[in-house]
Amino acid sequence: MKISFHGAAQTVTGSKHVITLWDNEKILLDCGMFQGMGKETHALNREYGFEPKSINHLILSHAHIDHSGLIPKLVKDGYNGKIYCTPATYDLCKIMLADSAFIQEADVRFVNKRKKKLGKELVEPLYTKEDVEKCLERFVTVNFNEPYEINNHIKLLFTGNGHILGSATVNLTIKEVDETTQVAFTGDIGRYKTALLKDPVPFPQADVLICESTYGDRLHSSGEDADQEILNAVIETCKMRKGKVIIPAFSLGRTQEIVYALNKLNLHGLLPEVKVYVDSPLAVNATNIMRKYAHSLNHKVQSFIESRPDPFGFDLLTYVTDKRESQELNVKDSPMVIISAAGMAEAGRVKHHIMHNISNENNTILIVGYAEPLSLAGKLRSGEKNVKIFGMEFDVKAQVKVIDSLSAHGDYQEMLQYLSCQDSKKVRNTFIVHGDPEAQQAFKKRMKEKGFNNISIPSKDTEYTV
Ligand SMILES: [Zn+2]
Repeated sequence: MKISFHGAAQTVTGSKHVITLWDNEKILLDCGMFQGMGKETHALNREYGFEPKSINHLILSHAHIDHSGLIPKLVKDGYNGKIYCTPATYDLCKIMLADSAFIQEADVRFVNKRKKKLGKELVEPLYTKEDVEKCLERFVTVNFNEPYEINNHIKLLFTGNGHILGSATVNLTIKEVDETTQVAFTGDIGRYKTALLKDPVPFPQADVLICESTYGDRLHSSGEDADQEILNAVIETCKMRKGKVIIPAFSLGRTQEIVYALNKLNLHGLLPEVKVYVDSPLAVNATNIMRKYAHSLNHKVQSFIESRPDPFGFDLLTYVTDKRESQELNVKDSPMVIISAAGMAEAGRVKHHIMHNISNENNTILIVGYAEPLSLAGKLRSGEKNVKIFGMEFDVKAQVKVIDSLSAHGDYQEMLQYLSCQDSKKVRNTFIVHGDPEAQQAFKKRMKEKGFNNISIPSKDTEYTV
C-alpha cells in the first residue's frame, strides 16, 4: 500500500491524502482548500497532485473548508465515486460549501470588474452553487461507531474526535491479498471538557497513523474562565460604560459557544439586560444544524436543555440575516453585544461593525480565537493603535480584549492524551500532517518520547510505501 500527501503537508490547510492499494484502487482522505497562502493560494487550489478521475472513494473527516472545500471542484473535474462522512458533516457541508461558492462568485465579480477595465484576462471561480449541488448528490452518510463496508476489502469506521460537530477520526480496515492493514487518520483533533462537544473517544489500534499537529508545540490556557471573561467584558462595556461589545467569531463552533455561554449566564441571572445580536446568515444556518444535533452534544448541554430547551436561544438574543437589519445595528447607540463573522475580521459584516465602533473608547472588541497576524483581528490582537479598514485609517480607541482559551484544536497534551489509546510499538508508520514545520518537529519529538517509531513529516506530493 502507498500513501501520498497533497495538502496539509507542512502547512495547515488543503488537507488531501491518497491511499493507493495493490490493485491501484485509490482512496482520497479529505479534499480541502488551501487558504491564506498569499499569492500561491490560487495556483495551489487549481491542481491536485493526482488525477480526480483516478480516485475511487473519498472519505471526509469533517466539514471545515480546509478539509472539504475542493470537493465541488473535484466532482466538476471528473471524480465520480461516493463521498463518505457523518450525517452532521453532510448537513454542515451543504451550508459551508454553498457559502464558499457564494464568496468565490462575489470575489470573482469584484476582481473581474477591475480586470475588464484594465483589459486583462478574466478569472473564474473554482466552482459555483450549481457545482456544489452536483457534488452533494454523491454524499453517503455513515453513523459514528457503526462499521461500514465500502466494498469487500475496505471497511470504514468513524470515531468521534471532539473537534467540531460531526468531526471524526477515519479508521480503515484494508485487506490486500493476504495482509490486513488498519489505517487511522485523525482529521483535526479536538479538546477535552469543552462547553458543547463530547470528549474525543479512543479509536482502534492502527498499523499506519496519519496525525494532525496544529498545536504540536503549544499548550492552551485553561478553558474554565472563558464564561467569566465574556461576562466581565459585557458588564464593563455595556453596563458601566454603556458601550457595545463586538465579537468577531467563526460562524460554526465559536459563535455557538459564545451564545451558549451568554445563555448560561442569563439563566443564572448574571447577564445584564443588554441585547445580543448574532449577525451572520451562515452562523444562523450553522446554529440551526447545531440545534438539530443537540442530542449529540455533551452531558452538560443535555442537562441545560432540561431547564431551557434551546441552548442557542434566549429572550435577549436576536439572530440577524437581513442586510438592512445588520446596517441598522450601527445606527442604534444603546449598549449591545454583536457576534458576527468572519472570525479574523478580514471580511463579512463584522468588518463594518468594527469600523463603526473602533473610534469610541466605551466599546470593546473581543477577540475570541486565533487570527492570522496580518488580518484585522490579528492586528488588533497584537495591540496596533492605528488600522486600515476598507482603505481608511482608524485610531484604535475601543478596548481590545483577547480570550485565548476557546480553540477547536487540542494542544500537544490533549493530542498525546488522544493518542494514548494506541500501543505505540504496534504503529509501524506514523505521518505527521496539518501543522507548521516548527509545531511538527516539536510534536514528532513528543511522539517519539511516547514510543512511536518511524515518524515522517511528509512534504507536498511525496509518496511512501507502508
Ligand atoms: Zn478543522
